[in-house]
Amino acid sequence: MTERLYLSDSMLAAFDAIVTACEPDEDGYLIELDRSAFFPNKGGQPCDVGTIGGAVVSDVNEKGERLLHRADRAIPVGTAVRGEIDFARRFDIMQQHTGEHLLSYCAWHLFGAQNVGFHCALTYATLDLDKPVGHDGITEIETLANRLAAENAAVTATIYETEEDLKGIPLRKHAEGLTAPIRIVTIEGSDACTCCAPHVKRTGEIGQLKIVEAIPYKGGTRCTFLCGMRALSHAQAMQDTVAAIALRFSTSRDQAEAAVQKQADELSETKKALRQAYAALDEYLAKALKAEAEDVNGVKLIVKTLESVDAKRLRAIAGATMTDRALSVLFSDTGDRVSYLLASNGIKTDTGLLIAAVNTAFSGNGGGRGTLAQGSAKKPAGMTETVESLKTYFKNVLLHG
Ligand SMILES: [Zn+2]
Repeated sequence: MTERLYLSDSMLAAFDAIVTACEPDEDGYLIELDRSAFFPNKGGQPCDVGTIGGAVVSDVNEKGERLLHRADRAIPVGTAVRGEIDFARRFDIMQQHTGEHLLSYCAWHLFGAQNVGFHCALTYATLDLDKPVGHDGITEIETLANRLAAENAAVTATIYETEEDLKGIPLRKHAEGLTAPIRIVTIEGSDACTCCAPHVKRTGEIGQLKIVEAIPYKGGTRCTFLCGMRALSHAQAMQDTVAAIALRFSTSRDQAEAAVQKQADELSETKKALRQAYAALDEYLAKALKAEAEDVNGVKLIVKTLESVDAKRLRAIAGATMTDRALSVLFSDTGDRVSYLLASNGIKTDTGLLIAAVNTAFSGNGGGRGTLAQGSAKKPAGMTETVESLKTYFKNVLLHG
């Protein structure tokens, strides 16, 4: 069985070992050592990567009691090797992981919320709490965690050989199913819980802890958080974003939100004014269309193409052209597409039947029934001629039923 060097020294980045097994597998070779500082994929966080005797280690997993390093080449059993882990990656993960301990302690201490899930990816980490915690609560948790981090308290791991030895130790969390010997990780002055992963030595090494999102999750709260350089990168990105917004509004960063709000208000007013202007324009358009309607067998027929009118406006315009007996067929040309609407009143033929002819002529999709049908299509070449031939068709329908 491999001696797990990370359990006693989380800062160990290089070590000497002997290869005790080497087996080919589909993605390279699985190497086992007599001792290793490589932490496997475990406890919701990614494994260490690095090299063993020059072979690249890209994945590390436990299989029962075994610790298997996936390497890109074989190393004979018995070879003395130097193992080196990617310590920048290890340290970053330890910052997130130890940060999780502190945040979990603060959530528990302040609100009695238990940590029920942890996932650490290479760019973010999430922590699930079993209770809903609102914005102010999240701020409190984050603030206390940063205060405790700044106290630079010692983070230590102790192995307890029996459950009896554990009695009297106030644990925040005792992982289910664990049997002695049990490893307890303690943050001096605050947290204590069962854990098997590597941690930073003192809370100051976590750096800043930032909860960047807290959303309701399974009746509790899922917090996405960033520690150390991840928190710094996030702050830099946020600063750049706010600066870009401020620049766009020609204002200072602290006035950016007010400037965005002002523009949103102006946009809302402009939209309202535009709706009113369109309503007046559409009333005028409908009048003009009615004036040029053709009388076909006692039915006022309008077939007309308009420029870039949306479906809602088409419907309003067509509606305003209705008389006792009327058929209005309006097309809207938006450049690359054409939409169409058929409205009728007091005629025998259902618009659902009439639109079938339009769909065929335009290779479009549309439907409807009774007195209203609508559809759209890619704008065809020779649209004017197509509309003219459809007009002839509608006339024939009105004349002959
Ligand atoms: Zn831990």
